[in-house]
Order: sequence, then structure tokens, then C-alpha cells
Amino acid sequence: MYECSCCHKMKPECDFYRESYTNSRTSQCRECINIKRRVTRDRAKHGKFVSKEKIRGGETPDYKLVDWRDAMLHFGGACAYCGKPEGRAKKDKLDRDHLIPLSKGGKTERRNIIPACHKCNRGRGNKDWREWFEEQDFFSEDKAKLIEDWVKQ
Ligand SMILES: [Zn+2]
Ligand SMILES: [Zn+2]
Repeated sequence: MYECSCCHKMKPECDFYRESYTNSRTSQCRECINIKRRVTRDRAKHGKFVSKEKIRGGETPDYKLVDWRDAMLHFGGACAYCGKPEGRAKKDKLDRDHLIPLSKGGKTERRNIIPACHKCNRGRGNKDWREWFEEQDFFSEDKAKLIEDWVKQ
């Protein structure tokens, strides 16, 4: 087992890529590398999201691509609620979900945004995230804890 230098999880050798020239094991696991690649590839979407928030709130939110990247890494590139991994198709992309909705004074800032699939994002609407989450079949204390850890950072 080897420790990934990004998520710090212990993983088997097969969960790492090999460098093409040296054939040595990469220091980051495949999952972390793939999440980062995907976030970088979708940076135009991030720009669109931030500029939309700007029109809504009047000022440019302090919300960077690296904030979204870290959120994606924190939640393993999956919906923070139901655990559905992000797919390539547009309908399978993850939304930037405000834990405290904008309508309730939440901001577009690092600790208030987590990845959520369209279904969860829409299903939750403006409800309190925890109350809504506890009513779902896929609720788990572990996932709720992961969200609380993200807020506390
Ligand atoms: Zn990793
Ligand atoms: Zn979901």
C-alpha cells in the first residue's frame, strides 16, 4: 500500500499511474489525478458559473477554480449527498451547490459550495441541507460528517 500525496489515503499500487518515461509510480493516486484533470478541462464552466453569480449578487464572488477543485477532491469527485460520481455527459456533471442558499444569506465562497448532482441539487432546493439530507434514503452520517468537515475548514 502507498500513500497518495494528495488525498493521503493508503491505496494499492494498481490505484496509481506510472510515469511514461521513468515508469515510476506517480505520487498522487489515479482518482486525484483524474479529478484534477476533469476540473481543469471544465474551467470554462467555472468561469460561466462565477460570472452568473456576479450578475445575481452585484459583485464578483471570491470563488476560484482551485476552491472548486479542492471541493471535488474532498468529496472524491462525486455528489456530496448521494455519492453519484461525475460523468462526462453534460447531464452527469456536478453542480456547485450552496449549502446555505443565496436566498438565505449564503455566499458564493469556498466553504459554502459543495458538489451535488442535478437531482440532489434540484431536490433540495432551498431547504436546510441537513434536514433534507436526513430524509433521503442515501443519507449517511459519514457523508454528513464529510460536509461538516468541509464547512469547518
Ligand atoms: Zn489521492
Ligand atoms: Zn446526488
